[in-house]
Order: sequence, then C-alpha cells, then structure tokens
Amino acid sequence: MSALSHSGHDYRLLLGRWEETCLASGLHCEAICKVGELPVLKVENAFAAAGVPGGLYVSAGVHGDECAPVWALLEWVASAPSILRECPVTIFPCLNPVGLIENTRRDGSGIDLNRSFADASQPVIAAWQQALVGRRFDVSVNLHEDYDATGIYLYELTRRESRGDQLLLACETHLHRDSAIVIDGSDFENGLLVRTTEIEQVVEEQLGGGYPEAILLFLKYAEMSYTFETPSESDLLLRIAAHRAFLEAVAEAQA
Ligand SMILES: [Zn+2]
Repeated sequence: MSALSHSGHDYRLLLGRWEETCLASGLHCEAICKVGELPVLKVENAFAAAGVPGGLYVSAGVHGDECAPVWALLEWVASAPSILRECPVTIFPCLNPVGLIENTRRDGSGIDLNRSFADASQPVIAAWQQALVGRRFDVSVNLHEDYDATGIYLYELTRRESRGDQLLLACETHLHRDSAIVIDGSDFENGLLVRTTEIEQVVEEQLGGGYPEAILLFLKYAEMSYTFETPSESDLLLRIAAHRAFLEAVAEAQA
C-alpha cells in the first residue's frame, strides 16, 4: 500500500472532482456558503433535491486532519452506487475546507465544528441548518478518523434494531476493529457503542454542551445516526477502503 497520487488535503482538486462526478451522475451540486473564497458544497440526487423524505445523509471533512473519509466519499459516489437511483441521498463532501487544507481538526477561526452544530452564529453551521430545514432521513453517516485509535470503531445512535456489528464486519477486510473497552471516554464493546436514550445527557456531561453533527442529526433529522472512525495512523489507502466499505454496507442495509 502506498499513498494517493495527490495530496489528501487539496481542496481545489476535491471541488473539481465533485463537479465532474456530479455532471457525470446527474447529481445536483451547490455551494451552501463560502469560507473565504472556498465554496462549501452540498450534493443531492433528484429525490433529495425535490424534498422527498427518508433516505441517506452523509458528510465528511468536519475535522480537517481526517482526510481519508473525504476521498472515500467521493470515490463511492463516483462508483455510481445503486442507492443514488433508489432513494433520497444528501451529501456534504467537506464541511471544513480550511481545516482540510491546513490539516487541522479545527476550522480557520479555531472552532471545533463538531461541537458546534447547534450554534447558528457559526456561518457554516447556519448554512448547514438552513439546508436541512424540513428534512428527515432514515440514516445519517458521519465519517471521521481518530489518531489515538488502533482500529475501526462505530458510534451508533438508533431508534431501531442495531446494525452496527454487521456494518463493522463489512469493513474488517481492510482494517480490524479497535479492541479498547474505553474510547474517547466512552465504553465500547468490540468497536461498537450503541445509544438510544439519554443523548442530551452525554452532550452535557461529556461534550461540555457542544453538539456534534451526529447527535444533532439524531435528535432532529434522522432515525439512525452513525459515526464511523478509522485509525488515522494507519495506511491512507486502507482507511479510504474501510470508509468506502462502510458506505457500501450502509447502502446495502437501506436497500
Ligand atoms: Zn473527527
């Protein structure tokens, strides 16, 4: 395994690839706002653009030092998965462009966006909230990486039967699960944490009142909410493959 043929932090290249992919696949692509000169994209298929409820939400690039998900998401959409023709799909390819370029967790003004999704004083968050007015998804997926992790792991927030174990299983051909029983202060079992209740308590007690994207999605917009993490010290191509496998498994579970 080696590296990408380009920098994982080239946002302009990423934008160009998304434009090409949307054109080729008939997907709607628009900028929800700009950060400086950099557009922040929302990509939707025709069902989602028409406001059809349900389906899939995916985002990547909320933390700029986690670049595998950004390229995996593009690669997956460019492969024209059948879910794009079957149900609404809404994608935010990279919500933190300055962070991606600078290879930093935080955005250009020093904010951790993933503790700020309820904070409309942040322009990107205000634009994101506006884009989601009246929307409802079956499942939301947030793709992340963790530099302390030794394997893949998954936060699953759900009002339905847990699917987390089968989703992780689908990614294990690329990277094994993190065996730690405590990850980032929470109890995990075989790389999986499932929550259905007391979500707001977690925000207060563990996150200092700051709302991550996945939690706000679960509370306001989605029946199920997944945050999938890869170990960012592992090989980049394996991490990309694991994220793509996760997306394929989620799409298959939706079919
Ligand atoms: Zn992250």
